[in-house]
Amino acid sequence: MATPDLPRVLESMRIRATSWPGMALVAGLVAVPGAQARPTSLPAGTQSTPLVVVDWDATDAADEAHAAEKMAEKLVPAIEQELFQRRIESPRPIRITLHGDFYGGNPPQARVPHVDAAGTVHLYRYGPTHLHAMAHELVHAVLRRENVPYGRFDEEGLAAWVSHVVRPSNAGFPTYGQDPAVVSGHWLVSGLAIPMNQIRDDFRGLNLRCSFQTYSLRNAFFIDLGEQQGNDAMRRFLQTMRSPSAFSDTFGSTLIELEREWLARVERRYERTPNAADLRREYRALPALDDVNACAPGRDFGDASPTTDRPDGASPRFP
Ligand SMILES: [Zn+2]
Repeated sequence: MATPDLPRVLESMRIRATSWPGMALVAGLVAVPGAQARPTSLPAGTQSTPLVVVDWDATDAADEAHAAEKMAEKLVPAIEQELFQRRIESPRPIRITLHGDFYGGNPPQARVPHVDAAGTVHLYRYGPTHLHAMAHELVHAVLRRENVPYGRFDEEGLAAWVSHVVRPSNAGFPTYGQDPAVVSGHWLVSGLAIPMNQIRDDFRGLNLRCSFQTYSLRNAFFIDLGEQQGNDAMRRFLQTMRSPSAFSDTFGSTLIELEREWLARVERRYERTPNAADLRREYRALPALDDVNACAPGRDFGDASPTTDRPDGASPRFP
């Protein structure tokens, strides 16, 4: 699969290259299928345990490398447990590279956390830390290490759920510490909620370009799905994801049916949140969103109205 053209995507998001918060919006939390490890400068340092190897090419990242190693040592077993209900004695440690600031490299460009084809996790510093995206990226890395075929939308959802289970607090992208349901509710009442089937069917076109909406909506949907269906069902989903009928096969309902039920819960939750309007303003005023024009129905995606039923895997309504 072709590597997404990240610089072009970032440019299309109209990000100012000079302010980190403006760029934090694309702490994209992606696994890039087929992407090769990008050339980097020689590591400034490396430290390793049997489970993880952390290296860094940012000269000021030695302390963070230590913290990253400690965190990964806890997260990898927890992720294996959630995904496979057992520890995996792998001869291959997971490699994590800390590259320094989000905007960097040679030539300088905005850079997005990702897992490359070799299974190496690449992290960048947003504000004070490289580690906001680590749990999510480690889910992708464990799946790559176990040779689970890449599952795009479904895998992103699974990564959102597992990373929420093993590390519920997320002070970074895409919710910045706010309740995922309230963030989703705000997209819904703003008429800017991208329907799940469109995010799934046009993954390449929408996932990064509309990353605030795609990641916050999909994350909240899958976190709710896990709460509603239970962890065993989510593990069964791991076996069926990538199939067009994965949702029906696992949960007995189509993606659209599940989405409709979730949206009803989101709407109720949002309406019952006493300061929802304040939270909505607060979220949209975050420095990270300063430079972002949210993707809009009719311009960037089909429409935000409730989707009509169609079989999972049918042609998208909006190409
Ligand atoms: Zn991801």
